[in-house]
Amino acid sequence: SYRLDEQIRNSILTTEPQWNSKNIDIQLDLEPVEIYADKDLMDQVWLNLITNAIKYSNENEIIQIGISIQSGQIKVAVRDYGIGIPKDELASVFGRFYKVDRSRNRSIDGNGLGLSIVKKILTIHKFSIDVESEEDVGSTFTVNIPINQ
Ligand code: ATP
Ligand code: MG
Repeated sequence: SYRLDEQIRNSILTTEPQWNSKNIDIQLDLEPVEIYADKDLMDQVWLNLITNAIKYSNENEIIQIGISIQSGQIKVAVRDYGIGIPKDELASVFGRFYKVDRSRNRSIDGNGLGLSIVKKILTIHKFSIDVESEEDVGSTFTVNIPINQ
């Protein structure tokens, strides 16, 4: 087991060049908590979610990352105030090579693989992920991790 809050802090350090160059402010609200998981694989999960939050945000925005404990689960929420995802595309974003409206994203690079990898890694762990989003308002990706007894 390892400290999830420390892992998230490290992911923030790793991605500093990306959020710094867009003048994005990262706000953290991290409950200290230990989890049982493959640390290297989970590094990939946080990197992909944080990279997306930065990529799909405008300059000078904030991104909020929180760890909370709710109804017997650890919840990690990555919230951005960026371009958002249309309602009818929400279910598709975890598919391989899926990108929302290619013309809208034309200037943003990526293969549409990050979230499918996130989903796969979480499924291996029996963790889950939810997404809430509104176009031009922002997106929140929430990872649910059961608390081991
Ligand atoms: P890659 O991660 O492979 O570099 P990608 O970011 O395009 O490329 P995913 O991370 O799988 O691919 O995301 C799939 C699509 O979901 C994105 O192309 C984008 O349209 C949409 N998306 C993902 N995260 C966000 C977000 N935080 N805000 C808005 N749209 C998002
Ligand atoms: Mg991505």
